Amino acid sequence: MINGKRVKTVDVHAHCIVPEAAAVINHPLEAPGLFVEQPAGPHRGDGRGGDRCRGAQHQPLLVSRNATPAAELIKIQNEKLAEFCAATPDRFVAFATVALQHPDLAVEQLQYAIKTLELRGLSVGGSVAGQELADPKFHPVWAKAEELGILIFMHPLGTRELEPSGRLKGSGLLTNTIGNPLETTIALSHLIFEGTLDRFPGLKICAAHGGGFLPSYANRSDAVITTFP
Ligand SMILES: [Zn+2]
Repeated sequence: MINGKRVKTVDVHAHCIVPEAAAVINHPLEAPGLFVEQPAGPHRGDGRGGDRCRGAQHQPLLVSRNATPAAELIKIQNEKLAEFCAATPDRFVAFATVALQHPDLAVEQLQYAIKTLELRGLSVGGSVAGQELADPKFHPVWAKAEELGILIFMHPLGTRELEPSGRLKGSGLLTNTIGNPLETTIALSHLIFEGTLDRFPGLKICAAHGGGFLPSYANRSDAVITTFP
């Protein structure tokens, strides 16, 4: 409430797992206690009091080098999300997931998810099986997202490459606390410095967790590219 007036809030970041999709690759349900058969009413499901939620799906579940399970899994997931949202249209809208590791397939999946299933945006991780989002192989996906005018929600997976060093061990769950925003920062920095955002100026990206560390260091990024162009 602001000055006695109710203000509409949109929670852009919520997670869900579709059991039928997880079953395609035998992925365990991480929190089976939270399983919801169907959304029961207008004020259940997101638990955070937002007027509207968008679902963000984690990418690790979806990185399969084989296009067949990736296609099946994503079809199930996006269609189930569309069903879930259709049951509570005043509460939930969803992001599509696509098989970014197969960019041509991803473009088709995105078109289908937005135009046919009426999902509202695209959810991506901060990297794709060790490759940066700025890699030119993903250009066709960004071109399609730009053409569709949708929002891209980027959720990191952490900096798994750092974990073998042991530097994120110990108290504080640093793999999450630092690793997640660090991956976001790396991904966004590459998208900027590799020129991806210049090539696709219409892209709309919302990066989870406040954009990682990038906003705090924007002046440093500017200074470095001036000094070391
Ligand atoms: Zn999250």
